[in-house]
Amino acid sequence: MDFTIPRHVEVIVRRVRQFLDEEVIPIEAQLLRASRDLSVEALQALRAKAKSAHLWAPTMPKEWGGMALNIQEIVPVFEEAGRSLLGPMAIHCAAPDEGNMHLLRHWANPEQTERYLAPLARGETFSAFSMTEPPPGAGSDPRMIRTRATRDGGDWIINGHKWLTTYGEIADFFIIMARTDPDAHPYQGCTQFLAPRDTPGIKILRDVPVMGAKDFGGHVEIVYEDLRLPDSAILGEEGQGFMLAQSRLGPARLTHCMRWTGIAQRALEIATDYASQREAFGSALSGHQSLQWMLADSEMELKMGRLLIQEAAWRLAQGEQARVETSVAKVQVSEIVSRVLDRCVQICGGRGISRDLPLSTWYEKARAFRIYDGASEVHRMVVARDVIKRYGAGSQN
Ligand SMILES: Cc1cc2nc3c(=O)[nH]c(=O)nc-3n(C[C@H](O)[C@H](O)[C@H](O)COP(=O)(O)OP(=O)(O)OC[C@H]3O[C@@H](n4cnc5c(N)ncnc54)[C@H](O)[C@@H]3O)c2cc1C
Repeated sequence: MDFTIPRHVEVIVRRVRQFLDEEVIPIEAQLLRASRDLSVEALQALRAKAKSAHLWAPTMPKEWGGMALNIQEIVPVFEEAGRSLLGPMAIHCAAPDEGNMHLLRHWANPEQTERYLAPLARGETFSAFSMTEPPPGAGSDPRMIRTRATRDGGDWIINGHKWLTTYGEIADFFIIMARTDPDAHPYQGCTQFLAPRDTPGIKILRDVPVMGAKDFGGHVEIVYEDLRLPDSAILGEEGQGFMLAQSRLGPARLTHCMRWTGIAQRALEIATDYASQREAFGSALSGHQSLQWMLADSEMELKMGRLLIQEAAWRLAQGEQARVETSVAKVQVSEIVSRVLDRCVQICGGRGISRDLPLSTWYEKARAFRIYDGASEVHRMVVARDVIKRYGAGSQN
């Protein structure tokens, strides 16, 4: 496996670092100090600066202003952008738009590409992926999808209840997962539909309040009530919903890992800086061995997490599905990030809890990472199935 970072990517990484230091982190500090949320206008102003700096949409083709980087090349770029929660939004590689662009790039037909993907890639619109349902619908087990799409002449009528649809407050269109054939195998009877926001029948009930500060674009609860869509709204083909979901969620899990590694790395730098300056019991905090071990464990775990990300990215770049490797990386990196942030808050004491530093916000926000795009237990189940298949009864004969 070759994890060499090409020269042109190293240059991009340095430019992303400079952009974050000069343009993004100062705004992050202002918002934190004022306990304010990012507005769409402020984000678009920041994005205009990113575009002028030629730091835009790392995964998208150059014709839409993108940087045309492959899955391996984005690993260090996304980590660098991820040093602030605002960084990926600024250079257009944040969830859910980044995953949705990936999905549309592979499955949208020419008309859908023109209508949905091109404006999204240019940063003129926002998108949402609407799959999870509140109980008794589908959550961890996507086979439980209850949202139904039924044929009506040449159209489809969708009825269902979704929640936690990220960017639902601002999305210009929704990608909706619905069951089209209740008699098919549970993994075959679903289809994805593209629905513009203003289509009658899309009822946003509320933004679901979540842990910590409000997230940009919200995580909304929606009822789809007699939502009528033409056949041309289908993304891919009828019955391909799960295959498309898998092709979106696999790489999307990995890009979450890349971005969160950036946050954890910056947290470690902030905590080390504090520990080197702050004195207690006759020396700098960094002189106390128990604290040194926290720094060492964080550094070692981040290195392990990066290697897991790189392995999965390398396999994806070779055309493999890398299902198990992606699950391994998702479990490990999400748990590593949680542990690193926890240690960094502890090292910074009261300052770590305060909003003077971003650590407390990151600590709160990172908790969801162990749940969204597959809870740790679900990914452990994927890994365990593979282990049992390879080493289980009879395999050693
Ligand atoms: C901040 C945030 C943003 C999100 N954004 C989106 C979005 O944009 N679009 C979207 O469609 N969804 C989104 N989600 C939903 C997310 O993908 C689901 O929350 C996740 O898949 C888990 O589903 P659930 O919440 O229904 O948990 P449940 O299915 O109710 O599971 C609850 C818990 O049970 C445990 N569990 C589940 N299965 C197993 C098992 N096999 N073995 C052992 N334990 C198990 C896990 O600990 C899990 O956390 C988002 C969620 C959050 C928190």
